[in-house]
Amino acid sequence: MKQFDYLREATLEGTLEAARGRPRSREGHGADARFIAGGTNLTDYMALGVMRPDVLVDVNELQERLGGIDSNKERLRLGALVRMAEAEDHPVIARDYPVIRQTLLLAASRQIRNMASLGGNVLQRTRCEYFREISWPCNKRRPGAGCAAMEGINRQHAILGTSPQCIAAYPGDFAQALIALEATVETVGGPSGPRSFPFAQLHRLPGDTPHIETSLAPGELITGYNVPAGPWTRRSCYLKIRDRDSYQFALTSAAVALELEGERVKEVRIALGGVATVPWRAREAEAVLKGNNLDEALATRAAAAAFAEAQPREHNAYKVKIGQETLVRALLQAQQMKVLQ
Ligand SMILES: Cc1cc2nc3c(=O)[nH]c(=O)nc-3n(C[C@H](O)[C@H](O)[C@H](O)COP(=O)(O)OP(=O)(O)OC[C@H]3O[C@@H](n4cnc5c(N)ncnc54)[C@H](O)[C@@H]3O)c2cc1C
Ligand code: SF4
Repeated sequence: MKQFDYLREATLEGTLEAARGRPRSREGHGADARFIAGGTNLTDYMALGVMRPDVLVDVNELQERLGGIDSNKERLRLGALVRMAEAEDHPVIARDYPVIRQTLLLAASRQIRNMASLGGNVLQRTRCEYFREISWPCNKRRPGAGCAAMEGINRQHAILGTSPQCIAAYPGDFAQALIALEATVETVGGPSGPRSFPFAQLHRLPGDTPHIETSLAPGELITGYNVPAGPWTRRSCYLKIRDRDSYQFALTSAAVALELEGERVKEVRIALGGVATVPWRAREAEAVLKGNNLDEALATRAAAAAFAEAQPREHNAYKVKIGQETLVRALLQAQQMKVLQ
């Protein structure tokens, strides 16, 4: 592993300063300095030689500013340093935002979730095997190198939001809940100071620049998320399909939040995981559902709309059918939930 400096500051200003003004790395991997929270993703990729920062800036002293779960009638606030396990155990999240709890509960292992933070979670990097093994050509690791997955084993890869440069699937689960619930993300340390913007604008489609994965500036720190409360948050769920039943990333997944008036869909928000290059909002499916009575036939039509633009490759065409069935099941599951008013 490449040598690096390790800094841990007691204040937010000191932490941002430590990450600021560092030159870009010679390899062009982005900012030379990286924040580290739980380290469960970053150290993994450093050990593989995929990420080679010169400086690690530990944010764990900032518990007071970046920790905490807080809720009122209007919203839920989650600090970026909240551990996945802490959020998963929170009674308000379990009762009022079940989709968030399920995305956390179904991820990784409890040991990892005890360490892993909500800030680091959304920024975890793809599990594409050719990205993780540095002897393969990969446009995300080395712009212009080519993409070994295009003609390689692409069973895990994305079918939505792909580009000729990259078809890597976004790996996380929690981000799907944030997309479906229309959360916002708060940051500090960017060029224009503190800001808050829709979480849906955090991740970038690969396009011609798959190595630029988010809209964060170098040295910009996520401080937390705000999730608006709504009649749909209690009737929400996450369905995750994977090769084995635990400790595994999604092949397909669906986060659904529903507001019903009798059988009629008054409001619906859907995000898909495992099938797209970024956490994916399925607006076409939502349009099919809104205003209509929900049954299996309608859910099937909505699922077809969600995958109408899918671009499968040699080994991942199965994701179209399984992705559709995942969404149908998630919608029917949300419909059948017993919800406290
Ligand atoms: C075996 C295994 C299985 C897993 N399975 C799943 C799974 O099924 N589903 C799932 O969703 N995840 C899964 N994960 C991933 C795991 O959830 C992530 O590794 C974890 O959430 C990352 O959080 P962290 O705090 O450890 O991040 P770190 O490793 O500390 O950081 C990750 C990235 O985020 C950046 N970062 C961290 N905090 C901030 C911040 N506040 N602001 C700006 N940048 C920041 C870092 O610089 C780094 O680039 C798995 C991981 C492992 C090892
Ligand atoms: S799919 Fe993306 S991450 Fe995977 S090898 Fe191709 S460019 Fe790299």
